[in-house]
Amino acid sequence: MNISLNLNKINTEIPDDVLLVAVSKTKPINDIKVAYQNGQLHFGENKTQELVKKAEKLPKNIKWHMIGHLQRNKVKYIADFIYMIHSVHSLKLLEEINKQALKNNRNINVLIQVDISHDLTKFGFSYEEINKLLLSEKIKEFKNISVLGLMGMASFTSNQKIIRKQFKNLNTIYEKFKSNYSFKFLSMGMSSDYKIAIDENSNIIRLGSNIFGKRS
Ligand SMILES: *Cc1c(COP(=O)(O)O)cnc(C)c1O
Repeated sequence: MNISLNLNKINTEIPDDVLLVAVSKTKPINDIKVAYQNGQLHFGENKTQELVKKAEKLPKNIKWHMIGHLQRNKVKYIADFIYMIHSVHSLKLLEEINKQALKNNRNINVLIQVDISHDLTKFGFSYEEINKLLLSEKIKEFKNISVLGLMGMASFTSNQKIIRKQFKNLNTIYEKFKSNYSFKFLSMGMSSDYKIAIDENSNIIRLGSNIFGKRS
């Protein structure tokens, strides 16, 4: 697995306005260093403990993205340095992120996760819930968070039509509320489906195995 070669290849393929988050979960510090030395600054992790441990050992200008299921009682461990939380799946979690951001005297970027696949293992607001939440404008009350957009994960399937449909549905909501909330980011697409995602307006892709190799 040649991390720098993989990164260069992906970077030449994707449009300039698409942000690549290198998903380094389960991978060693040295792999992250190689990517960093090749100019990669945005990294994603899905477990707070692993994220904190890695962030402590790596350069401070790395921008860390929390992309996995986040429990409310864990927010405090990442609140002082996290760059963006993609996986906000409840109003209570938003409240906690806002509280911890305030405590740390900073602002935290968040994306709201929408359940576009209806897989039981995945989290996120249902379409009905996200519409209700965004229409209520309740999230505008949180002063220490910036809700910058939406995130979704497509079904684990090889059927590209299903994947495309799910990305399209998320983009429809994104576009509907974009101007009211000044949304900037639509985070969708992983190693297996990022090309479809970019086609459907994604501007943050989260790639792990395409960069670092398969996870064991
Ligand atoms: C693991 C993970 C990814 C990256 O998956 P790959 O298939 O390795 O690219 C992206 N997003 C989330 C939320 C993940 O948990």
